[in-house]
Parts: sequence; structure tokens; C-alpha cells
Amino acid sequence: MVDVLSLVRPTIRRLQPYSSARSEYSGAGTVWLDANENPFGTGLNRYPDPLQTPLCTVIAQRKGLAANNVFIGNGSDEAIDLLLRVFCEPRRDAILVVQPTYGMYEVCAAIHDVAVRSVVAHPDFSFPLHAVQTAAQAPVKMVFLCSPNNPTGKSIPLDEVRLLAHSFSGIVVVDEAYIDFSPHCSAVSLLREYPNIVVLQTLSKAFGLAGVRVGMAYAHEDIIAVLRSIKPPYNVSVLNHNAAIECLQREASVRQQVRVLCAERARLAKRLATLSFVEHVFPSDTNFLLVRVANAARVYSGLREHGVIVRNRSSLPLCRDCLRISVGKPEENELLLSFLATMEGEGVL
Ligand SMILES: *Cc1c(COP(=O)(O)O)cnc(C)c1O
Repeated sequence: MVDVLSLVRPTIRRLQPYSSARSEYSGAGTVWLDANENPFGTGLNRYPDPLQTPLCTVIAQRKGLAANNVFIGNGSDEAIDLLLRVFCEPRRDAILVVQPTYGMYEVCAAIHDVAVRSVVAHPDFSFPLHAVQTAAQAPVKMVFLCSPNNPTGKSIPLDEVRLLAHSFSGIVVVDEAYIDFSPHCSAVSLLREYPNIVVLQTLSKAFGLAGVRVGMAYAHEDIIAVLRSIKPPYNVSVLNHNAAIECLQREASVRQQVRVLCAERARLAKRLATLSFVEHVFPSDTNFLLVRVANAARVYSGLREHGVIVRNRSSLPLCRDCLRISVGKPEENELLLSFLATMEGEGVL
């Protein structure tokens, strides 16, 4: 079993964390004169709870975890950034990514001067377990998996995540930004067994709070404690915290929206496949479809002229002429399909 604390950069292990007013005293009080706040105001004049205790508790409960297995970030992008700072020594350690995937891992590593190694997925985008296991050697300290993956929509079987966590003596990060759209189980179930797994989730996608910025990391309590010790003390604002709590209280309507989006995903996939210039619609466990067309640049600009914006992912490995199309509301998807049918009829494609 991996001793996760031994993987933490020495400089972080030695760190004496900043102690904010609200982390030194968070109990009951009637007169708060410890944080140089403006005393006039109706709630937002006070600094937030640095540990986001109420939100942490609600989320931990939903996930069947203890609160000390949950880190809340200013989006999961903040967790990605902090994980790199915790585990990867600049100019010495490296991360490993499986292409094609979410670009933030690589950019974030570059910002920290951490090298990026990459392994390319199989042509059907399935997970190249053996190649990843082979590449996951020093100086690779952390492997980023995205499941279901952006932009391919493909999930990694949990058994393969488990095998990697077992054979690799570094950290395996499983980014589950799209897990709520997937029929597969979350890697959260592996945390008890593997202290070197970190699972990332977010309220930005299925929960509809991309504008709010709340993301979660679930991991062994030692990892969570280190993340908390290096985060900016007030990384989640009172507004964000409360919006997240409110959203989790109306989870039933979120589930209903997810059902609609998954049904729309199936409908959209079927209809797209009938278009003459569509070469392939990749199966997806997410709220988007990756679609290979005859000429991605032309479809992209044709749609843009109609005011429909999709993402051209053609420059990524294995993604020649691929567009990534988010599943919209039914009427938006209908518009997309009608514009594509018009373009097909005009023979522009
Ligand atoms: C959208 C997305 C995120 C979201 O990050 P937030 O900072 O929580 O909005 C994370 N990972 C992947 C793969 C994504 O596609």
C-alpha cells in the first residue's frame, strides 16, 4: 500500500500553514473583533468558514464518506492545481495523461513547470491500461484519468482504475466531471481500498452551477488535510457555498434534467448518424457527443453562421474532423439538427 504522505513534496510537508482568524476561532461568539471585518452588514461582511463545514457535511453524506475525505475547491480546476502543487516537484516530477483528454491537466502542469508524459488511447478511445502502467514510472508522480472522458465520452472500467492504482506507486487522479450522466459506478467506491486515488467531481456540469465555481476532491484524509493546508483560506465564497447547498437541496429536479439530457443525447446521436456528412457518432457517457464529420472546419463555420457554437476538437490526437457538441435543451438540439439538415441539402458539406 502506498504511503501517501511520503509522496508529498518535502517543501509542502515542512510547511507551517497560514492560520486565518476564522480557522483559529470558529466557535460561538457574539462580538467578532478578530478579522478586521466591517461590522455593519447583513452576512456578506463576514469571512466564510475556511472549511466549508455545512457543504462538506452534506456532500460527504451523499457520497457515503466522512467530511475529512472531502475537499471543496473553487471549481475542480482548483483541486487540479493544488494536487500538482502538493505532489509534483517542479523540473523533477512529471504527470501522465491519456490523450485525447481535458487540456487543463497539461496546462496546469506547464504553469508549475512539471513535465507531461502522454499515452494515446486505443483508436476506439478505450483505455490503454498496459501502456499506462508501463509509462507510470518515475519521474511520473501523478496520473490523470478522466472518466467519462472529455472529449471522447468514454468511461474507464473501474477494474482498470483499480489495477493501475495497485501497480502504480504514485497518485491516480480520476476526474469524474461527467459521472452524473454515466451509467457506470464512481471510483469513490475504491477510495477505502486505495489511499493513492483522488476522485474529482464538480457542480459545474450536471448540477448546472458552472457559474458558481464549486468542485470537489475525494480522497484519503491525509491527502485532504494537505490540500486544506495549502489552499487559499477563503477559497469558497459565502455566495458559492450557499448556492451549492441550495442546489443540493433540489437534487430531484437536477436528476430530472439529467434524465432529459440523457434521452436527448440518444435522440441526437441517432439523428446525427443519418446525416450524409457524419462519419461517426461516438458513444457517450456524458452530456456531449463527439462526432466525426467529413470536414469539421466547414461544419463548424456553417453552424457558427447560424449562431450555433460547438467545439472543434480536430487538433487532438485521434480526433481528426471531430466536433464536440454539448447536448442542449430539446428545442436547441432541434435547431442544431435543422441547420445541419439545411447545410446537407445545400450541399455545402
Ligand atoms: C468541465 C470539466 C471540469 C470542470 O471543472 P470546474 O472547475 O469544476 O468547472 C473538470 N474536468 C473536466 C474533464 C471537465 O470537462
